[in-house]
Amino acid sequence: MLKGKVAVVTGGTRGIGFSVVELFLKNGASVALLGSRQETVDKALAKLRAINPDYPVIGMAPDLTDYAAVEATMAAVKEKFGRIDILVNNAGISARDPLLQYKPEDFEHIMDVNVTAVFNGCRAVAPIMKEQGGGSIINTSSMVSIYGQPAGVGYPTSKFAVNGLTKSLARELGRSNIRVNAVAPGVTRTDMLVALPKEVLDRVSAPIPLGRVGEPEEVANCFLFLASDMASYVTGEILSVDGAAQT
Ligand code: NAD
Repeated sequence: MLKGKVAVVTGGTRGIGFSVVELFLKNGASVALLGSRQETVDKALAKLRAINPDYPVIGMAPDLTDYAAVEATMAAVKEKFGRIDILVNNAGISARDPLLQYKPEDFEHIMDVNVTAVFNGCRAVAPIMKEQGGGSIINTSSMVSIYGQPAGVGYPTSKFAVNGLTKSLARELGRSNIRVNAVAPGVTRTDMLVALPKEVLDRVSAPIPLGRVGEPEEVANCFLFLASDMASYVTGEILSVDGAAQT
């Protein structure tokens, strides 16, 4: 589904991002995998090369909150693979502190990683996609971007912002044939989930109509659809992948 396309995936070292990288490679894309540390990036690359030594995949660890670093990374990917067709902004962090314990610097940090880094990626890749005649940007939202959550206000706030950025850029970049969508996962089995206290996890999982949490591969399938030409008339969409948890 992605033969000949080039993708950049942030937060590609584990969890949902790693599943996206693996699925994109299986579907014929060349991929630049970005992570927060070169050591974890190298581990992820080794894991992928153990699956298929011929996978066209490279890895880097730029500071996504630094626009100049992101711009330099996009230029390096274009230099290596010749183009960039797909950007998946997936890197994200979470915290669940109640408001009265929430440190202002933690709020700022979560907005930096979950929102500013997404803006930086979109801002840096848009001129490349525009020059090529189009592209697909897919951001990572969350089911909490619809109703909020009862503690940890920074995280849902950041994901509401991701939805706003997604819908606005879809309108702004549509004339350049750049589609901008977001995937909004529900509770998904990754490290982020393992970090949640059991009582929180049980409370979140119990009412899910499909009766279970999602797997990273199930979320990755939605990124594949939105990245591919099968979604050529889909833009500005926030695609929920949550077992109907929001209903
Ligand atoms: P994860 O913790 O397993 O992986 C997060 C990835 O982001 C890692 O590759 C990590 O290196 C990268 N990352 C974190 N901070 C970074 C930074 N400062 N700079 C660069 N990279 C950084 O998380 P996950 O569960 O796979 O989540 C991926 C995305 O999906 C996130 O945006 C998250 O908010 C969203 N999401 C996850 C769930 C869930 O239940 N797992 C639900 C809804 C939304």
